[in-house]
Amino acid sequence: RLLGVRFAAAVNSGTSGLQLCVRAMGIGPGDEVITSPFTFIASANCFLAEQAKPVFVDIDPATWNIDPGRISVAITPRTKALLPVDVFGLPADMDPICALAKSRGLRVIEDSCEALGATYKGRLAGTLGEVGVFGFYPNKQVTTGEGGMVVTNDEQVYRLIVSMRNQ
Ligand SMILES: *Cc1c(COP(=O)(O)O)cnc(C)c1O
Repeated sequence: RLLGVRFAAAVNSGTSGLQLCVRAMGIGPGDEVITSPFTFIASANCFLAEQAKPVFVDIDPATWNIDPGRISVAITPRTKALLPVDVFGLPADMDPICALAKSRGLRVIEDSCEALGATYKGRLAGTLGEVGVFGFYPNKQVTTGEGGMVVTNDEQVYRLIVSMRNQ
């Protein structure tokens, strides 16, 4: 309700949430995914855990978030998704990122683990990509000790995540 999304799946950590998104999107061995090098390590480990390869695109020094202008040169035929991070509560520049993803046929996972309640052009962080992931570790805006949440309007992704989180 807070985020205005159709589906929210509670998980045991933000890391688990990210990894389940990777699985639900069918990303695996041989695939490449573009993310930020300036983040908590889960933003890259979620791909390594599924034998996919994180590819780092440098940050914009003004925002410390992935620089959208540098992403397209990092895209290869193996690239499957973009994983921007809303670092320290400041949402990534999602409009050019989502436009690029759409034009190149890539999925978008928004790592909003550090940005619950933050807004980007009046829209809430975590609702800007196809899926958004939140973490509730003690260093987050809201904590449950350990925990996380995946939010999406994509019913198929939601159903897969709810199914796979059980194991
Ligand atoms: C906290 C965080 C996560 C997930 O961390 P967990 O400790 O597994 O909940 C993922 N990405 C970023 C950017 C984070 O800050």
